[in-house]
Amino acid sequence: MLSILNILEDTTADGPGFRTAIYAAGCPNACPGCHNPESWDIRNGRQMSTEEILHKVLADPFADVTFSGGDPMYQPEGFAELAKAIKEKSCKNIWCYTGYTFEQLLRNTRQRKLLQYIDVLVDGRFRQDLRDETLHFRGSSNQRLIDVPASLQAQKAVTYRRKVEQN
Ligand code: SF4
Repeated sequence: MLSILNILEDTTADGPGFRTAIYAAGCPNACPGCHNPESWDIRNGRQMSTEEILHKVLADPFADVTFSGGDPMYQPEGFAELAKAIKEKSCKNIWCYTGYTFEQLLRNTRQRKLLQYIDVLVDGRFRQDLRDETLHFRGSSNQRLIDVPASLQAQKAVTYRRKVEQN
């Protein structure tokens, strides 16, 4: 089971193209200036099964998928199960927003398991002092768009570029 705040269909704000965005409840990061402080408490979410969320994701044959929040990496086992099922049943790419850095996730066994199903990671806490509204798909300039498969292979963060340049 996952604690979910909201699921938005066909959003264009959380990655390239049309996407089904799944907003996790629960975030330990408490970034000053957070756009969504009500997401911090995991009890504010609705309990949803992997099957229920998967059904919504697969109902749209065109939309790709974004995990956001809150912080999906706060519920790594549930999101890993969901991401694995999405990859088994579709060709959808998965973007994931998190307040943790890629390097922190690599060191955490539970979170690392979720990483292996992610295509692009938008990492790091939102920093008000580095806020930049001209950036694509991220709020502050410390946050990175990371090509996860390439980064896992290289064992270091590799910047994701392709689709951002087309948008
Ligand atoms: S990681 Fe995101 S949801 Fe969590 S406190 Fe920071 S800005 Fe808010």
